[in-house]
Amino acid sequence: MKSTKTVDLAILGAGASGLMLASLLQNRKNVCLIDGNPAPGAKIAVSGGGRCNLCNAHLDPSYYRGDAKVLRSVFGRYDQHWLLRWFHERGVETRLEKGSQYFAKERSRAVLDALQRAARGVETLYGFRVKEIRKEAEGFSLIPERGRALRCRRLVIASGGLSFPKLGASGIGLEFAKESGHPVEPTAPALVGFTLQPAQAFFKSLSGVAVEAEVRVARRCWRDRLLFAHRGISGPAVLNASLWWERGEISIDFLPGFDLNEIRSERKNLSTLLPLPKRAALAFLKVLQIRDRPCRQLGRAEWERLEGLHDYRFAPAGTFGYSKAEVTRGGVGLSRIDPLTMESRLVPGLYFLGEVLDVTGELGGYNFQWAFSSAAVCAEALNE
Ligand SMILES: Cc1cc2nc3c(=O)[nH]c(=O)nc-3n(C[C@H](O)[C@H](O)[C@H](O)COP(=O)(O)OP(=O)(O)OC[C@H]3O[C@@H](n4cnc5c(N)ncnc54)[C@H](O)[C@@H]3O)c2cc1C
Repeated sequence: MKSTKTVDLAILGAGASGLMLASLLQNRKNVCLIDGNPAPGAKIAVSGGGRCNLCNAHLDPSYYRGDAKVLRSVFGRYDQHWLLRWFHERGVETRLEKGSQYFAKERSRAVLDALQRAARGVETLYGFRVKEIRKEAEGFSLIPERGRALRCRRLVIASGGLSFPKLGASGIGLEFAKESGHPVEPTAPALVGFTLQPAQAFFKSLSGVAVEAEVRVARRCWRDRLLFAHRGISGPAVLNASLWWERGEISIDFLPGFDLNEIRSERKNLSTLLPLPKRAALAFLKVLQIRDRPCRQLGRAEWERLEGLHDYRFAPAGTFGYSKAEVTRGGVGLSRIDPLTMESRLVPGLYFLGEVLDVTGELGGYNFQWAFSSAAVCAEALNE
């Protein structure tokens, strides 16, 4: 190995949490912000459909998988009001959508630019893809795929989860956490579509159709858009459900809030009165073996079968996987992390931030909030 350079603090990952940490550090000398990509913030740039859903007005641990006590501790100090103020003060305008979701008013790029400006003065090392982390007698060594290793006295792992490998994701943080004795909760793709069993093959004929539905998993439900896709089902209602799904059945109400009794005596054809796009209505009638005809002509057994659309149960075959998942659930267990500093209780000088930890939020800005807030807690500790 060629000779190594040494810094006091290395931040592995210039994504949401790494950039925020760099932005909040008071002493920037001897700090190095590292990323395998040639530029920082790849996920921020594409997030929220190009407009970055920064955070949510309704911030509460119930929107997360993760230790509620830790979440309360972190958000008790750095919440959505802090986050919005921080970005507003740096010229990022936001817009409230869907009642509670704060998006960048213009482009995600504005969020990324603000973070980069705020992090000025911190040395950056981009295109430095770490293939191995070694614990040394004093500090750590980061061994890249190519070039010289970097040594650091303290290391912040902000390397994210396994989702979207094409944007730079890797398992480096999880692997090193395990090697250094930290519990790592099993990981799985989350905020992702479901693939189907043969019994739901007819969904594929609806590819491209969107409906309003209520998806229920693990005693939780989401009423939102459901999208029939070529590989299965997707859309916000399904994505949220995937966060809580542990194999087994889910239930979908394809007629949320609709009372079938109200159309029983109608003269019009059923397919025109169901609150579904015509293509979807006809596909469901076919599967339920109901001939499309005036509602008043339908028999009792047919109405009973239609009621089943309020509680359509099936077990997804799986998910679309990490290549399509917005986040990774599971990760470094919080039991060995001090929530007041984000430092490991097992390895002094080692910190974990953001998605690499076992905290995953629903859609709506919850994952950036966690990334930014966990970084702020860590920055406060490092600044002391
Ligand atoms: C398409 C998409 C849209 C999203 N939209 C939203 C949204 O609108 N709102 C929201 O709240 N959340 C959104 N998310 C989730 C959000 O982007 C993540 O939860 C958040 O970025 C996690 O921050 P992080 O700092 O932990 O990790 P990341 O932001 O993923 O940063 C980790 C960084 O580490 C680098 N890295 C990883 N491995 C290595 C290695 N071996 N060597 C060197 N560098 C490495 C990566 O290149 C990356 O830059 C979205 C995710 C995706 C994929």
